[in-house]
Amino acid sequence: MAIEMMLPEGFTFSQANLQDYIDCPRRFQLRYVQGQQWPAMVTEPQSEYETFKRRGAQFHRLVERHQLGLPAAEIAPGPDDLLLSAWWDAYLGFEKLHMLPGARFPELHLSAELFGARAMAVLDLVVVEPGARVTIFDWKTHWHVLRRDWLASRMQTVLYLYLAVAAGPGMWGDWLEPEMISMIYWFPAEPDSPVTFTCSRQQHQEHGARLERLLQEIRGRAAERVWPLTAEVRRCEHCQFRSRCGRGTVAGAFDEFEGGEDLWDAVGGVLDFEDVGEVGF
Ligand code: SF4
Repeated sequence: MAIEMMLPEGFTFSQANLQDYIDCPRRFQLRYVQGQQWPAMVTEPQSEYETFKRRGAQFHRLVERHQLGLPAAEIAPGPDDLLLSAWWDAYLGFEKLHMLPGARFPELHLSAELFGARAMAVLDLVVVEPGARVTIFDWKTHWHVLRRDWLASRMQTVLYLYLAVAAGPGMWGDWLEPEMISMIYWFPAEPDSPVTFTCSRQQHQEHGARLERLLQEIRGRAAERVWPLTAEVRRCEHCQFRSRCGRGTVAGAFDEFEGGEDLWDAVGGVLDFEDVGEVGF
C-alpha cells in the first residue's frame, strides 16, 4: 500500500513517531494513521507530569536564548524553581560546550527526503567548526543519566546522526565526513556524565539500512487491519490508548516510568513542527 494512502497528506516522519512504531505498531496506527486523540492521562499524578513538561521546555528555551547570544544574567530563571535554577547553573558550568569553537545553531530544524518519505529532526543545538567537526547536543532533562545502550538503540540517535550526515554537506559544506559528526546527550541533573556517540561511514550505512527497512515495514501494513499491539504490556500503563486497547484504565505512576527513559517520548519533546526548512540531499 502506498504511504500516501494511509498517512495524512504531508506526513513527516520524526524520531518520536518512528519510536512510537517500534514501541507499539498499534500506537502508531491509532495516533498517526487514524489520527485518534484519546483523552486519558499519561501518568498519575498529572501535576507531576505537567511540571516535568513545563520545566523541560523552560530549560530548552533558556539554553536556546543563551546560545543565540542573550546575556545569561538577563535570562536566568527566578528563584521559585530550585531545580530549574540548578540545571541552569550546571549549564553555565558546562565548559566543554562553552569552550567549543564554531558557529552555533540552537533548535535547528532539519527536514529532508528519507527513502521516499519526508523526515525531520529538531536538534537542540549544533556547533559547527568548518572543516573540522559538527557536534550535535541534546538536552535530556531526566532525573538521571540514561543508559548508553538504550540511547544507542533509540530512533533519535539513529535518525539525527543519519540526517546530519545526509543533509550536512548541503548545509555546512563538502568538507563534512561522517567521522566529523558526533552527538552528545547531556543531562543537567548529572552534568559530568554526558553520553557521546560518534559516527562513521559504515555506521551511517547501517543507520540508513535500518531506517529504510522500518519505512518499508510501515508502508507494507494494511491500514484497515489492526496493527500488532506491543507484547511489552508495561508500556501500556503510560499510553493514552490503554482503555481503547483493553489494557487498563488507570494511568501508571509518574515515578514508575522505566527509569524515566520513556518519559520524554511520551511528552513528545518540545518539537515545533512549524517553520521547518527543507534541506535537500
Ligand atoms: S495501550 Fe498498549 S497496545 Fe495499545 S497503543 Fe498503547 S502501547 Fe500499544
